[in-house]
Parts: sequence; structure tokens; C-alpha cells
Amino acid sequence: MSEKTGPLSERARVRRVARRADYERETLNAIIDAAYVCHLAFTDQRGTHCIPTACWREGDYLYIHGSNGSQLIKAAALGAQVCLTITHIDGLVLARSAFHHSMNYRAAVIYGVCEEVEGEHKLESLDALVEKIAVGRSKEARRANAKERAATTVLRVALDEYSCKIRTGGPKDDDEDIDLPVWAGVLPLALVPVAAVPADERVDMPSYVAQWGHQG
Ligand SMILES: Cc1cc2nc3c(=O)[nH]c(=O)nc-3n(C[C@H](O)[C@H](O)[C@H](O)COP(=O)(O)OP(=O)(O)OC[C@H]3O[C@@H](n4cnc5c(N)ncnc54)[C@H](O)[C@@H]3O)c2cc1C
Repeated sequence: MSEKTGPLSERARVRRVARRADYERETLNAIIDAAYVCHLAFTDQRGTHCIPTACWREGDYLYIHGSNGSQLIKAAALGAQVCLTITHIDGLVLARSAFHHSMNYRAAVIYGVCEEVEGEHKLESLDALVEKIAVGRSKEARRANAKERAATTVLRVALDEYSCKIRTGGPKDDDEDIDLPVWAGVLPLALVPVAAVPADERVDMPSYVAQWGHQG
């Protein structure tokens, strides 16, 4: 029987409702791979910020990219301490009491310092982002040219210090509320693809676009 991984640092130890904590790398990978967006928090001379941005994973790193001019990219590229969060909401939990209403979720918090990705790896990483959007797409879309590459910074954070927290299941009502005549249960939520909207009719839809919105 394999032993469960414990907290990776003191600040990454889930204290509140610790039974929902999960420190397994597979869990973190799955949360990142299912996400299009992370929120990156950092502090600079103007204060503390928390900015949403696209993210993707390659191996043991989470990647972000952006314009060289963005304050987020500038601060992160200068080696600021960052904290990234990812949240997937899986359902609204309706309890019999107002107090016990909740949400089902998979969430991750990642701490670290960004390092810049350069050279051929930078190009490959930008391909990986396009592949995350649609598998096969990096072979079809024009690759970033020298000017576009020069205007873009790619950064990555090692997945060394993180926590995941997951809530599943129904409401946790108090025993004395169970017989109240109030509907209780879960309203599940999911991020689902809907039919693609072509920019124009000049090119036939590739199969991955035609299938979009018709999966499952
Ligand atoms: C969709 C959603 C809705 C939520 N709604 C509420 C709400 O309304 N009220 C409320 O009190 N809490 C809510 N939570 C839980 C919230 O994220 C915190 O876990 C909780 O508030 C405890 O905060 P804390 O600072 O005391 O955590 P602590 O347990 O003290 O945090 C210590 C460490 O645990 C880790 N950690 C804490 N929370 C998370 C997390 N969610 N995911 C991954 N790692 C984590 C971090 O590394 C953090 O530094 C919600 C979470 C999600 C994802």
C-alpha cells in the first residue's frame, strides 16, 4: 500500500478542514491540466495584486506567458515570490440550513518563484499552450514570428510547494435539521463546450472543431 504524500511546507499545510487536503502530485497535475486559467498573486512596489492568466503544465512546471509590458510578467520575471491558485467549481451544495450551504470544488494553491523560459524551449512551450487549446492546432496555426516572440515572455514555476483541497458530496447538515421540510442536495456544475462559432466560412472546420460541443 503506498503512503499518502503529506504537506510539502508549513505554509502549504491545509489547516482548516484538513481532511479535504490532498498533496499528491497526480491530484495537482489533474487540477492544472483541467484548467485554462490560474490566478497569480504577487507583491510589487505598488502593493499586492492577484491577476488571472492562462496556464498550462509541462512535466514538473506550471507555465504562464504574457506581454513583456505587463506588470504581472515584469514582476514575476524579476523573481518575485508568487502564489498561484486554480479553482474548479463542481457544484452548489444546498443544505437545510443557510449556514451549511457550500460548494463542491477542486482547488490548488502553488507557491514559488518564476523563471524565464528562453530559446527553442520558449517556442516549444508556446506550442504546448496552443496544443492545450486544441490537440493538433500547433501544426496548423502560424507559429509566432521573431517580433511576436520578442514581445512575449514565457515563465514557469516549479511544482515543488503546493496544496490541493477538494470538497465532494452532499450537504453536512446538523442532525436536528435533517427533518426540516427544505430541499437539500447538490446542483452540479461543469464547464462544457458548446458549438463552435466560425470567424468566416473560408476554411472547412477541422474535426476537432466540428466535434466541439458534441462530445460526451
Ligand atoms: C469554490 C470555493 C468556495 C469556498 N468558499 C468558502 C467560503 O465561503 N468560506 C470559507 O471560509 N472558505 C471557503 N472555501 C475554502 C477556502 O478556500 C479556504 O480553504 C478556507 O477559507 C480556509 O482558509 P484558511 O486561510 O483558514 O486556510 P488554511 O487551512 O489555514 O490554509 C493554509 C494553507 O492551506 C492551503 N489551502 C487553503 N485553502 C486551500 C484551497 N481552497 N485549495 C488549496 N489549498 C488551500 C494553502 O496552501 C494555505 O496556505 C472555498 C473554497 C473554494 C475552492
